[in-house]
Amino acid sequence: MRICLTFDVEEFTMPADYGIRKHNNETRFSKEGCIRLLEVLKKHKIMSTFFITGYFAEREREIVRMISEHGHEIASHSYSDRNLSGLRRQKLEKSVYDSKKILEKISKQEIRGFRSPHFSMNKHLFGVLEQSGFSYDSSVHPAIVPGHYWNINKGLDPYHAGENKKILEIPVSVIPGLRFPISWLWMRNFGNWISVAGTKANIMKRDVVLYFHPWEFADIPKIKGLPFYITSNTGSDFLKSIDKFIIKNKRHGFGRMDEIMDKGGSDRR
Ligand SMILES: [Zn+2]
Repeated sequence: MRICLTFDVEEFTMPADYGIRKHNNETRFSKEGCIRLLEVLKKHKIMSTFFITGYFAEREREIVRMISEHGHEIASHSYSDRNLSGLRRQKLEKSVYDSKKILEKISKQEIRGFRSPHFSMNKHLFGVLEQSGFSYDSSVHPAIVPGHYWNINKGLDPYHAGENKKILEIPVSVIPGLRFPISWLWMRNFGNWISVAGTKANIMKRDVVLYFHPWEFADIPKIKGLPFYITSNTGSDFLKSIDKFIIKNKRHGFGRMDEIMDKGGSDRR
């Protein structure tokens, strides 16, 4: 089994009370983070999957092209980084479909994967993904964190979903049993050991899917009104952490999400 590093490339929403209205929905932090990440991934010759919002792609076309030219998979993170759970089917269809078209046009890749913003679930999601020609989804986070996630009944392994069971759902990884998250702010605030331990606990049974946001690797200014753990240890500190993580886990191998997809979610025999 291997490890997939995945990146949710999106606008960074400044808190509404930050005062600079025009600076809401910044794309520059994710852009800066992407450029830094591409260097690290290139250094280690690792391929990854970037789930990108249509909003980001329309504003940062050059970055999307660059990610694609480096050989990484481009996937959809819907049109904007807004929660999808309350959307009516028609609006959801538009967000999913528009993002796919925008990303395909810019990257020249076929967009096969989807991850919903904030892991928000919508009862129409899998049906809409099937209808729009997607092959897999990675919007399930089977974690338990009181106040954030209570997905005690969600499976840890990939499974087929949708009206015609055409979508492979590939959940992101947690520590089995405890169901503690092992990606982004948890890795940033607790340290690499949590992701290393989580990888070790899963790797013999299933592929490991970690997720981050490129803005976590950018220099984010101090922002009033954001909890400290959202921006703590971001920038070059976190870039060093991910570099160390890759070195420590290189023996397992790293790959793109569509590679898990193409072996049917598992290479167990
Ligand atoms: Zn997001």
